[in-house]
Amino acid sequence: MLKTHLCGELRPHHIGQTVTLAGWVHRRRDHGGLIFLDLRDRWGIVQIVCDAALSAEAHAAASEVRSEYVLQVTGQVRARPTGLANPSLPTGEVEVAVSELRVLNPARTPPFYISDDQPVDEALRLRYRYLDLRRPRLQRNLLLRDRIVTHIRRYLHDRGFIEVETPILIKSTPEGARDYIVPSRIHPGRFYALPQSPQQLKQLMMVGGLERYFQIARCFRDEDLRADRQPEFTQLDLEMSFVDREDILELIEGLFIELVETLEPETGKRLKFKPFPRLTYAEAMARYGSDKPDLRFGLELVDLSDIVASSQFRVFATAVAEGGQVKGIRAPGCGGYSRSQIDELGVFVQAQGARGLVWIVRAEEGVRSSAARFLTAAEMEAIVARLGLEVGDLGLIVADQPAITAQALGQLRLELGRRLKLMDPNELAFAWILDFPLYEWDAAEQRWSAMHHPFTSALDEDWKYLQPGPDYDPGKAKAKAYDIVCNGWETGGGSIRIHRRDQQALMFDVLGISPEEAQAQFGHMLEAFEYGAPPHGGIAPGIDRLTAILAGESNIREVIAFPKTAQATDLMTNAPSPVSERQLRELHIRLAVEE
Ligand code: ASP
Repeated sequence: MLKTHLCGELRPHHIGQTVTLAGWVHRRRDHGGLIFLDLRDRWGIVQIVCDAALSAEAHAAASEVRSEYVLQVTGQVRARPTGLANPSLPTGEVEVAVSELRVLNPARTPPFYISDDQPVDEALRLRYRYLDLRRPRLQRNLLLRDRIVTHIRRYLHDRGFIEVETPILIKSTPEGARDYIVPSRIHPGRFYALPQSPQQLKQLMMVGGLERYFQIARCFRDEDLRADRQPEFTQLDLEMSFVDREDILELIEGLFIELVETLEPETGKRLKFKPFPRLTYAEAMARYGSDKPDLRFGLELVDLSDIVASSQFRVFATAVAEGGQVKGIRAPGCGGYSRSQIDELGVFVQAQGARGLVWIVRAEEGVRSSAARFLTAAEMEAIVARLGLEVGDLGLIVADQPAITAQALGQLRLELGRRLKLMDPNELAFAWILDFPLYEWDAAEQRWSAMHHPFTSALDEDWKYLQPGPDYDPGKAKAKAYDIVCNGWETGGGSIRIHRRDQQALMFDVLGISPEEAQAQFGHMLEAFEYGAPPHGGIAPGIDRLTAILAGESNIREVIAFPKTAQATDLMTNAPSPVSERQLRELHIRLAVEE
């Protein structure tokens, strides 16, 4: 080692020892005969003193160094002079009086300071990610990520799981997103797909008798990106045999509780609920307008449809008559909002697809409302009571088709939560969402698609909705699928799987996949199910999201060493990039675009 000690570890008990340190120049202060350097390594920063009287050579060398030079220094640890200790630095009581100083490598002036003090443009950070990684924020986040993954591995190993790697070059697995595909050189015109998840492989491992599998697995999905998405991301992928839903829920809840509580001293993040509350999908949509509700605060959606179904107010009555819903939300203490503030909220719900927003203010002197002229006193009174409006409150109402009402009010609820500062950043409100619909109707394609994925089992009593016959009604079938959510993020999803060939074939049938297509696409699964497939199920929590939540970051890029931009590019290496004519020829590819 080029160092005997770590910069960050020196304390008063080291005083008198001669140490050799190596690291980066964090800062340099030249006081003539004395030059002070802050030397930094992964473990911290320590002050180095180059005294011309002690070593003229070291002092001369120090006068040449600049920020981010890589140094090796040898010297004696001593107490800082009285009154000059730096209480904000863990090493602040000591300094190292240098006798030897070697420049291991000079450095160009970095494009930004290696500190968290100033905000740095993100494009610049991504372009120079190797410098960004030196900053405390990313070091902290990556250390936390390492600790989380280590904890997960230990937890699962203690419970008889084994970690198995699965291939990156596979046959396309439908998880609802677009595949990244890789052309084959050896087989002209054929392609591998990068796994959207190891879903089929982990199920085949259950057929293979492994019983308890996990993997810290990379998944690839060619989707439009958002703050919580990257073209490639990491999941804790997990599968178990001979289990039902309860076993998976208990396993993961135990893991998350242990993780959060173990890391609490470091993250400051604490659980809001223990055990985690459970909501059905229908309940979550009804009460929060979302299948990943932020449960750190209330402001639940309130159904007013029955009150206004036969109202003279056409907007409300027609919405209900057409199968829609009239729902509202209470904005506590917002009764004093100005007209323009309320208009702003109207524009907000319109951006979510709603036609408009009806408001009600309960003031000292009575009730005011944009619908006052159209509603009877009794209707108004019933609405105010149902919404729970107190003096000084504002009620906000949307009348629309259920999906739009949920979307608009669900988002409005979050907006109010933000404005009213109801989301405690140190609170983690984990919850389970259960009983998802098995299918959703794809209006554009005019067909059913699997809400989770096509290997998810229906609830036992709901298979009848898939069977051709009088009960056939796929929209009614619920799935043995579950999500774990936290603070408005989906942090994992899974299901109990289909393990019988006939049920899998039925599933494909409803999805409009013909027996021939099913054979071509999924023949290996159907065949495997004929060789004694055990009942099995699993889940896949997202490691990036979990780490971001625990690190208090709102973007998963902050917990990934080398992330891509929202345009799926890598600003450091410039990927994606063109390839040579020769590579294309070898892959039997002719481009239809000009570079
Ligand atoms: N493969 C699923 C996903 O990536 C998770 C699972 O069902 O285990 O969402």
